[in-house]
Amino acid sequence: MTAIIIDGKQTAASIIEVVKSAAASLKSEAEVKPGLAVVIVGDDPASHAYVGAKSKMAKECGFNSVQHTLPQATTQEELANLVRTLNADASIHGILVQLPLPRHLDSDPIIQSILPEKDVDGLHVVNAGKVAAGDLDSGLVSCTPAGAMVFVRRTHGEDLSGLNAVVIGRSNLFGKPMSLLLLAANATVTTAHSRTKDLPAVCRNADILVAAVGRPGMVKADWVKPGATVIDVGINRVPALDKGEGKFRLVGDVAFAELEKVAGVITPVPGGVGPMTIAMLMANTVIAAYRAVCRVPPKF
Ligand code: NAP
Repeated sequence: MTAIIIDGKQTAASIIEVVKSAAASLKSEAEVKPGLAVVIVGDDPASHAYVGAKSKMAKECGFNSVQHTLPQATTQEELANLVRTLNADASIHGILVQLPLPRHLDSDPIIQSILPEKDVDGLHVVNAGKVAAGDLDSGLVSCTPAGAMVFVRRTHGEDLSGLNAVVIGRSNLFGKPMSLLLLAANATVTTAHSRTKDLPAVCRNADILVAAVGRPGMVKADWVKPGATVIDVGINRVPALDKGEGKFRLVGDVAFAELEKVAGVITPVPGGVGPMTIAMLMANTVIAAYRAVCRVPPKF
Protein backbone atom coordinates (compact mmCIF):
# COMPACT_ATOMS: atom_id res chain seq x y z
CA MET A 1 0.00 0.00 0.00
CA THR A 2 1.17 3.53 -0.71
CA ALA A 3 -0.50 6.23 1.34
CA ILE A 4 -2.24 9.26 -0.11
CA ILE A 5 -0.06 12.22 0.84
CA ILE A 6 -2.10 15.23 1.97
CA ASP A 7 -1.02 18.49 0.36
CA GLY A 8 -1.15 20.96 3.25
CA LYS A 9 -0.20 23.91 1.05
CA GLN A 10 -3.11 23.25 -1.31
CA THR A 11 -5.58 22.73 1.56
CA ALA A 12 -4.35 25.92 3.24
CA ALA A 13 -4.73 27.80 -0.07
CA SER A 14 -8.38 26.66 -0.29
CA ILE A 15 -9.02 28.03 3.24
CA ILE A 16 -7.30 31.32 2.32
CA GLU A 17 -9.58 31.69 -0.72
CA VAL A 18 -12.64 31.46 1.57
CA VAL A 19 -11.04 33.99 3.97
CA LYS A 20 -10.32 36.45 1.14
CA SER A 21 -13.84 36.34 -0.21
CA ALA A 22 -15.35 36.62 3.31
CA ALA A 23 -13.11 39.64 4.03
CA ALA A 24 -14.13 41.27 0.72
CA SER A 25 -17.85 40.72 1.48
CA LEU A 26 -17.49 42.23 4.95
CA LYS A 27 -15.76 45.26 3.46
CA SER A 28 -18.37 45.83 0.78
CA GLU A 29 -21.44 45.05 2.91
CA ALA A 30 -20.45 46.48 6.30
CA GLU A 31 -17.48 48.77 5.56
CA VAL A 32 -15.38 46.67 7.96
CA LYS A 33 -11.85 45.47 7.24
CA PRO A 34 -10.70 42.58 9.48
CA GLY A 35 -7.81 43.82 11.66
CA LEU A 36 -5.04 41.53 12.92
CA ALA A 37 -2.37 42.79 15.35
CA VAL A 38 0.70 40.59 15.74
CA VAL A 39 3.01 41.35 18.67
CA ILE A 40 6.59 40.12 18.84
CA VAL A 41 9.10 40.76 21.63
CA GLY A 42 12.86 40.33 21.20
CA ASP A 43 14.94 39.12 18.28
CA ASP A 44 14.54 35.34 18.04
CA PRO A 45 15.04 34.71 14.28
CA ALA A 46 12.54 31.80 14.06
CA SER A 47 9.81 33.88 15.78
CA HIS A 48 10.51 36.81 13.41
CA ALA A 49 10.18 34.47 10.42
CA TYR A 50 6.79 33.16 11.70
CA VAL A 51 5.50 36.67 12.47
CA GLY A 52 6.65 37.99 9.08
CA ALA A 53 4.76 35.17 7.33
CA LYS A 54 1.61 35.86 9.37
CA SER A 55 1.66 39.63 8.70
CA LYS A 56 2.27 39.04 4.98
CA MET A 57 -0.60 36.56 4.72
CA ALA A 58 -2.92 38.96 6.60
CA LYS A 59 -2.19 41.66 3.99
CA GLU A 60 -2.81 39.18 1.16
CA CYS A 61 -6.19 38.39 2.72
CA GLY A 62 -7.13 42.08 2.56
CA PHE A 63 -6.85 42.62 6.33
CA ASN A 64 -5.65 45.64 8.22
CA SER A 65 -2.36 43.98 9.26
CA VAL A 66 -0.48 45.61 12.13
CA GLN A 67 2.82 44.36 13.52
CA HIS A 68 4.22 45.56 16.87
CA THR A 69 7.90 44.72 17.24
CA LEU A 70 9.06 45.33 20.81
CA PRO A 71 12.66 45.26 22.05
CA GLN A 72 14.08 42.37 24.11
CA ALA A 73 14.13 44.63 27.21
CA THR A 74 10.33 45.20 27.14
CA THR A 75 8.80 44.90 30.63
CA GLN A 76 5.73 42.87 31.62
CA GLU A 77 3.86 46.15 32.26
CA GLU A 78 4.75 47.59 28.83
CA LEU A 79 3.55 44.45 27.07
CA ALA A 80 0.37 44.34 29.19
CA ASN A 81 -0.28 48.02 28.28
CA LEU A 82 0.02 47.24 24.57
CA VAL A 83 -2.49 44.37 24.89
CA ARG A 84 -4.86 46.72 26.77
CA THR A 85 -4.58 49.28 23.95
CA LEU A 86 -5.24 46.64 21.29
CA ASN A 87 -8.20 45.26 23.28
CA ALA A 88 -9.74 48.76 23.22
CA ASP A 89 -9.05 49.37 19.50
CA ALA A 90 -12.25 48.69 17.52
CA SER A 91 -10.30 48.37 14.25
CA ILE A 92 -8.42 45.33 15.65
CA HIS A 93 -10.43 42.08 15.68
CA GLY A 94 -7.59 39.64 16.37
CA ILE A 95 -4.54 39.88 18.65
CA LEU A 96 -1.68 37.41 18.51
CA VAL A 97 1.28 37.55 20.88
CA GLN A 98 4.05 35.42 19.37
CA LEU A 99 5.34 32.74 21.76
CA PRO A 100 7.73 31.97 23.30
CA LEU A 101 8.30 35.34 24.98
CA PRO A 102 11.77 36.23 26.34
CA ARG A 103 12.43 34.44 29.65
CA HIS A 104 11.91 37.49 31.89
CA LEU A 105 8.28 37.79 30.71
CA ASP A 106 5.38 35.67 31.98
CA SER A 107 3.29 34.67 28.96
CA ASP A 108 0.21 33.31 30.74
CA PRO A 109 -1.12 36.59 32.26
CA ILE A 110 -0.49 38.28 28.90
CA ILE A 111 -2.43 35.66 26.92
CA GLN A 112 -5.24 35.64 29.50
CA SER A 113 -5.48 39.46 29.30
CA ILE A 114 -6.41 39.35 25.59
CA LEU A 115 -10.18 39.71 25.18
CA PRO A 116 -11.48 36.17 24.41
CA GLU A 117 -13.30 37.49 21.31
CA LYS A 118 -9.95 38.82 19.96
CA ASP A 119 -7.91 35.73 21.01
CA VAL A 120 -7.35 34.42 17.47
CA ASP A 121 -4.72 31.93 18.74
CA GLY A 122 -7.50 30.26 20.78
CA LEU A 123 -5.36 30.05 23.93
CA HIS A 124 -7.55 32.04 26.36
CA VAL A 125 -9.18 29.83 29.02
CA VAL A 126 -12.62 30.98 27.85
CA ASN A 127 -11.92 29.66 24.33
CA ALA A 128 -10.21 26.49 25.61
CA GLY A 129 -13.18 25.98 27.96
CA LYS A 130 -15.71 26.32 25.14
CA VAL A 131 -13.87 23.61 23.17
CA ALA A 132 -13.83 21.43 26.31
CA ALA A 133 -17.58 22.00 26.76
CA GLY A 134 -18.25 21.01 23.14
CA ASP A 135 -19.20 24.56 22.08
CA LEU A 136 -17.38 24.90 18.75
CA ASP A 137 -19.58 27.71 17.46
CA SER A 138 -19.22 30.72 19.75
CA GLY A 139 -15.48 30.71 20.63
CA LEU A 140 -12.19 30.65 18.72
CA VAL A 141 -10.45 27.27 18.29
CA SER A 142 -6.66 26.98 18.59
CA CYS A 143 -5.22 27.25 15.05
CA THR A 144 -3.08 24.10 14.71
CA PRO A 145 -5.71 21.61 15.97
CA ALA A 146 -8.36 23.46 13.93
CA GLY A 147 -6.13 22.98 10.86
CA ALA A 148 -5.48 19.29 11.60
CA MET A 149 -9.25 18.79 11.90
CA VAL A 150 -9.73 20.16 8.37
CA PHE A 151 -7.56 17.25 7.13
CA VAL A 152 -9.54 14.77 9.25
CA ARG A 153 -12.90 16.10 7.98
CA ARG A 154 -11.78 16.12 4.34
CA THR A 155 -10.64 12.49 4.71
CA HIS A 156 -13.39 10.99 6.91
CA GLY A 157 -16.29 13.49 6.75
CA GLU A 158 -17.91 15.40 9.63
CA ASP A 159 -18.96 12.35 11.66
CA LEU A 160 -16.21 10.09 13.04
CA SER A 161 -18.63 7.64 14.70
CA GLY A 162 -17.05 4.22 15.14
CA LEU A 163 -13.48 5.41 14.49
CA ASN A 164 -10.69 5.16 17.06
CA ALA A 165 -8.43 8.20 17.29
CA VAL A 166 -5.14 8.35 19.20
CA VAL A 167 -3.44 11.69 19.89
CA ILE A 168 0.15 11.45 21.15
CA GLY A 169 0.75 14.58 23.23
CA ARG A 170 -1.37 16.40 25.83
CA SER A 171 -0.20 20.03 25.57
CA ASN A 172 -2.69 22.87 26.02
CA LEU A 173 -1.49 24.23 22.68
CA PHE A 174 -2.25 21.12 20.66
CA GLY A 175 -2.81 17.68 22.22
CA LYS A 176 -5.72 18.54 24.54
CA PRO A 177 -7.75 20.64 22.07
CA MET A 178 -7.11 18.10 19.28
CA SER A 179 -8.43 15.27 21.46
CA LEU A 180 -11.51 17.34 22.33
CA LEU A 181 -12.22 18.23 18.69
CA LEU A 182 -12.00 14.56 17.67
CA LEU A 183 -14.31 13.67 20.56
CA ALA A 184 -16.79 16.37 19.50
CA ALA A 185 -16.83 14.71 16.05
CA ASN A 186 -17.83 11.39 17.72
CA ALA A 187 -14.45 9.60 17.49
CA THR A 188 -13.45 7.32 20.37
CA VAL A 189 -10.35 9.15 21.59
CA THR A 190 -7.24 8.12 23.50
CA THR A 191 -4.79 10.85 24.56
CA ALA A 192 -1.31 9.33 24.98
CA HIS A 193 1.72 11.00 26.57
CA SER A 194 5.14 10.30 28.05
CA ARG A 195 3.65 8.11 30.84
CA THR A 196 1.56 5.93 28.51
CA LYS A 197 2.33 2.20 28.81
CA ASP A 198 3.09 0.35 25.56
CA LEU A 199 2.56 3.31 23.25
CA PRO A 200 3.07 1.23 20.05
CA ALA A 201 0.14 -1.05 21.05
CA VAL A 202 -2.07 1.97 21.84
CA CYS A 203 -1.22 3.50 18.44
CA ARG A 204 -1.97 0.26 16.55
CA ASN A 205 -5.59 0.67 17.62
CA ALA A 206 -5.92 4.01 15.83
CA ASP A 207 -7.88 4.63 12.65
CA ILE A 208 -6.72 8.23 13.03
CA LEU A 209 -3.26 8.70 14.57
CA VAL A 210 -2.09 12.21 15.45
CA ALA A 211 1.49 12.75 16.64
CA ALA A 212 2.45 15.99 18.45
CA VAL A 213 5.48 15.17 20.53
CA GLY A 214 8.59 16.92 19.23
CA ARG A 215 10.68 13.73 18.74
CA PRO A 216 11.95 13.18 15.18
CA GLY A 217 10.69 9.97 13.58
CA MET A 218 9.42 8.47 16.84
CA VAL A 219 6.34 6.76 15.36
CA LYS A 220 7.47 3.66 13.42
CA ALA A 221 5.66 1.64 10.74
CA ASP A 222 4.81 -1.23 13.11
CA TRP A 223 2.93 1.24 15.38
CA VAL A 224 0.40 1.93 12.63
CA LYS A 225 -2.77 0.05 11.67
CA PRO A 226 -2.68 -0.61 7.91
CA GLY A 227 -4.78 2.02 6.12
CA ALA A 228 -4.86 4.45 9.07
CA THR A 229 -4.87 8.23 8.66
CA VAL A 230 -1.67 9.70 10.13
CA ILE A 231 -1.43 13.42 10.97
CA ASP A 232 2.11 14.50 11.82
CA VAL A 233 2.21 17.73 13.82
CA GLY A 234 5.84 17.57 14.95
CA ILE A 235 8.35 20.07 13.62
CA ASN A 236 11.92 19.01 14.40
CA ARG A 237 15.16 20.46 13.08
CA VAL A 238 17.71 17.69 12.47
CA PRO A 239 21.24 17.94 11.04
CA ALA A 240 21.34 17.40 7.25
CA LEU A 241 24.94 16.39 6.63
CA ASP A 242 24.15 15.70 2.95
CA LYS A 243 23.39 19.42 2.56
CA GLY A 244 26.68 20.41 4.16
CA GLU A 245 28.25 21.21 7.53
CA GLY A 246 25.89 23.02 9.92
CA LYS A 247 22.83 22.54 7.67
CA PHE A 248 19.45 21.35 8.98
CA ARG A 249 16.21 19.94 7.62
CA LEU A 250 12.71 19.79 9.10
CA VAL A 251 11.22 16.39 9.93
CA GLY A 252 8.09 15.32 11.76
CA ASP A 253 7.39 12.95 14.64
CA VAL A 254 6.66 10.01 12.32
CA ALA A 255 9.13 7.97 10.28
CA PHE A 256 7.55 9.15 7.02
CA ALA A 257 9.38 6.86 4.54
CA GLU A 258 8.29 3.73 6.49
CA LEU A 259 4.78 4.88 7.32
CA GLU A 260 4.01 5.90 3.75
CA LYS A 261 3.94 2.16 2.94
CA VAL A 262 1.47 1.29 5.73
CA ALA A 263 -0.83 4.28 6.26
CA GLY A 264 -3.85 5.05 4.07
CA VAL A 265 -3.41 8.81 4.28
CA ILE A 266 -0.46 10.76 5.69
CA THR A 267 0.68 14.37 6.10
CA PRO A 268 4.25 15.30 5.17
CA VAL A 269 6.62 17.58 7.14
CA PRO A 270 7.15 20.22 5.90
CA GLY A 271 4.05 21.00 3.83
CA GLY A 272 1.40 19.28 5.95
CA VAL A 273 -0.02 20.75 9.16
CA GLY A 274 2.41 23.73 9.14
CA PRO A 275 0.72 25.81 6.39
CA MET A 276 -2.69 25.13 7.99
CA THR A 277 -1.74 26.95 11.20
CA ILE A 278 -1.39 30.30 9.43
CA ALA A 279 -4.50 29.65 7.30
CA MET A 280 -6.61 28.99 10.43
CA LEU A 281 -5.22 32.14 12.07
CA MET A 282 -6.60 34.09 9.10
CA ALA A 283 -9.88 32.14 9.38
CA ASN A 284 -10.15 33.00 13.10
CA THR A 285 -9.50 36.69 12.37
CA VAL A 286 -12.25 36.88 9.76
CA ILE A 287 -14.61 34.98 12.13
CA ALA A 288 -13.80 37.50 14.92
CA ALA A 289 -14.43 40.45 12.57
CA TYR A 290 -17.83 39.04 11.46
CA ARG A 291 -18.89 38.51 15.07
CA ALA A 292 -17.77 42.04 16.03
CA VAL A 293 -20.44 43.43 13.68
CA CYS A 294 -23.03 40.76 14.62
CA ARG A 295 -22.81 38.87 11.32
CA VAL A 296 -22.72 35.11 10.90
CA PRO A 297 -19.14 34.11 9.99
CA PRO A 298 -18.28 31.49 7.34
CA LYS A 299 -17.60 27.90 8.43
CA PHE A 300 -14.15 26.45 7.79
P1 NAP B 1 4.89 19.97 24.16
O1 NAP B 1 4.15 20.99 24.93
O2 NAP B 1 6.35 19.80 24.40
O3 NAP B 1 4.17 18.56 24.38
C1 NAP B 1 4.72 17.37 23.94
C2 NAP B 1 3.86 16.23 24.38
O4 NAP B 1 4.51 15.01 23.95
C3 NAP B 1 3.69 16.13 25.90
O5 NAP B 1 2.34 15.89 26.20
C4 NAP B 1 4.58 14.94 26.29
O6 NAP B 1 4.07 14.16 27.35
C5 NAP B 1 4.52 14.09 25.04
N1 NAP B 1 5.71 13.23 24.94
C6 NAP B 1 7.02 13.58 25.09
N2 NAP B 1 7.81 12.50 24.95
C7 NAP B 1 6.99 11.45 24.73
C8 NAP B 1 7.21 10.06 24.53
N3 NAP B 1 8.42 9.54 24.53
N4 NAP B 1 6.14 9.28 24.35
C9 NAP B 1 4.88 9.78 24.34
N5 NAP B 1 4.62 11.10 24.52
C10 NAP B 1 5.66 11.91 24.73
O7 NAP B 1 4.76 20.22 22.59
P2 NAP B 1 3.59 20.84 21.68
O8 NAP B 1 3.58 22.32 21.84
O9 NAP B 1 2.32 20.10 21.86
O10 NAP B 1 4.19 20.51 20.24
C11 NAP B 1 4.46 19.20 19.85
C12 NAP B 1 5.15 19.20 18.50
O11 NAP B 1 4.28 19.82 17.56
C13 NAP B 1 6.45 19.99 18.45
O12 NAP B 1 7.35 19.37 17.54
C14 NAP B 1 6.02 21.33 17.90
O13 NAP B 1 7.08 22.00 17.21
C15 NAP B 1 4.94 20.91 16.95
N6 NAP B 1 3.94 21.96 16.68
C16 NAP B 1 3.72 22.28 15.39
C17 NAP B 1 2.79 23.24 15.08
C18 NAP B 1 2.54 23.58 13.63
O14 NAP B 1 2.19 24.67 13.29
N7 NAP B 1 2.67 22.61 12.74
C19 NAP B 1 2.12 23.93 16.08
C20 NAP B 1 2.32 23.54 17.40
C21 NAP B 1 3.25 22.55 17.69
P3 NAP B 1 3.98 14.71 28.88
O15 NAP B 1 2.80 15.62 28.89
O16 NAP B 1 3.79 13.49 29.69
O17 NAP B 1 5.28 15.42 29.13
